[in-house]
Amino acid sequence: MTTTELAIDREYSTAELIALEEQYGAHNYHPLDVVIERASGAWVQDVAGRRYLDFLAAYSAVNQGHCHPAILRAMMEQAQKVTLTSRAFRNDQLPLLYRDLHELTGYEMALPMNSGAEGVETALKAARKWGETVKGIAPNQAEILVASGNFHGRTIAIVGFSSDAQYRAGFGPFAPGFRAVSFGDIAALERAITPNTAAFLVEPIQGEAGIIVPPDGYLAAAAALCRKHRVLLIADEIQSGLGRTGKLFAFEHEGIRPDVVILGKALSGGYYPVSAVLASREVLGVFQAGDHGSTFGGNPLACAVARAALRVIQDEGLVARSAELGAYALERLRGVRNARVREVRGRGLWLAIELNEAARPVCEALQQRGVLCKETHATVIRIAPPLVIRREDLEWGLDQLEAVLTA
Ligand SMILES: *Cc1c(COP(=O)(O)O)cnc(C)c1O
Repeated sequence: MTTTELAIDREYSTAELIALEEQYGAHNYHPLDVVIERASGAWVQDVAGRRYLDFLAAYSAVNQGHCHPAILRAMMEQAQKVTLTSRAFRNDQLPLLYRDLHELTGYEMALPMNSGAEGVETALKAARKWGETVKGIAPNQAEILVASGNFHGRTIAIVGFSSDAQYRAGFGPFAPGFRAVSFGDIAALERAITPNTAAFLVEPIQGEAGIIVPPDGYLAAAAALCRKHRVLLIADEIQSGLGRTGKLFAFEHEGIRPDVVILGKALSGGYYPVSAVLASREVLGVFQAGDHGSTFGGNPLACAVARAALRVIQDEGLVARSAELGAYALERLRGVRNARVREVRGRGLWLAIELNEAARPVCEALQQRGVLCKETHATVIRIAPPLVIRREDLEWGLDQLEAVLTA
């Protein structure tokens, strides 16, 4: 194989950029054909200069809005000082992120990683080791229960317990020790718990499954069962957390306190991947030096960004904003009644419209009208704009949605 020098950048058209991506990139996504080159708040702009309202917010990673100036400032300042030390040495930002996470959530300890999937893997490792060393499960016997319809990321261990056939197909063999129980079914959870059960991993509201809100009381009953049988309750709040559902964490809707909480997505403010596992000293204390790690986990740039991202959520009252704007949007969408709409559901500014038909053409029609949505599964449209969205922009976006759905 021969190589030539890298090409000089010039202005590329939408079609050229799409062609390059299709030719040279792996086709593991099916994006809408909009090529974004800049963004601010709830709006993005494509290479042709067209503006769109963002109704996805990068799967809730930009709850604070695109290119938030306060997070940008923190990132620029930190990028000029030190970006990566590795955890072979200490840095001056990680202790402050630990303090902020503790003060905001009350959890005793945290462990920082990069992607959400790594956060989930970390929580699973902690749960297994807690199972062996604290609960007394025999070596290599710890079991972890998960919910049907779950989405926790794309590593081999995680897709191994997915109920989505496509996520698994071709990727086996998978790690043993995981068992799925029907989401929302407390009797099924009780039946599945054995003396070897170390943890129950669950999304308080299932995001990728289509914003599935479990029956009232389910999480509270699951928390009580877990306590009774000494099983760790692990809440994956990577998408539902940090304000998305109108509470800081979705588990608060049921007044519970999981043993372990996983954060990601909006912890980054959209700037720089950062995830974290929060838990008690009893749980995260199982990790000894050398047990687990990540070259980039806890790096000072990530920590500075995450601290600023948390501060924006607090200072701008984004949790209350999500509750208020979400209630308004839900009421409006419930008013759209026709044969195409099967159900409207959600919490906070995290809504789903389940259709009786394919959702993709609706998303494409919305794109034509200047609103970006992405279908989840075949028939669900997810509405999850940045939480900073202005009320009049939200109203305009919902107008477009109504127009498409009633066309
Ligand atoms: C997005 C997501 C993940 C995975 O996060 P990545 O950063 O994509 O690895 C895990 N759990 C939930 C609930 C998610 O929504």
